[in-house]
Order: sequence, then structure tokens, then C-alpha cells
Amino acid sequence: MSEEPQLPPIPAIGDVLDRKDDMKEFKYTLYECLECGERNTRDFIEGDFVFKIFDGKKCENCNSNKYIIKKIYAEFKKSKKGKKKK
Ligand SMILES: [Zn+2]
Repeated sequence: MSEEPQLPPIPAIGDVLDRKDDMKEFKYTLYECLECGERNTRDFIEGDFVFKIFDGKKCENCNSNKYIIKKIYAEFKKSKKGKKKK
């Protein structure tokens, strides 16, 4: 029996990739003040991971500057064409 299934090329994937061409992935980090639990988000920084504790700027609520990362997530946004980097 030589019934190796022959997978045809999947045009749908290329199609999706094409459409995503002008979509850019933006990563964000959701973090929480260790003292009062105030939540904020900032741009993802290389080396961020969930449960990482880091020093940030002083919390507006409690003046602590210790934060813990709760979540890292990504959003796809359309990159603005023709807009050059500053
Ligand atoms: Zn706080």
C-alpha cells in the first residue's frame, strides 16, 4: 500500500501572511504594584517574563517601586505606511 497522502500546497496560509504584511506585532507587559496591587501596562522589554519582579518608578498610590509582571500579551496593529522613524 502506497497511500501516502499528498498534501497540496496550502494557499490559505500564504494568503494570510500576505495580509499580515502590514500588520505589526506590539507586545505589552501588564504589571502590578507589589504593595497595593495597582495595575499598569507598558511596552514589553526584552527579558520580561511573567512573575518577574522589577524596580520601576514610584507607585502613585503607595510610593513603592517594586512591581511584578502578571501578563505579557501581543496585539497586531496596522503599521502606518509611509511614516518614517524619528
Ligand atoms: Zn502601589
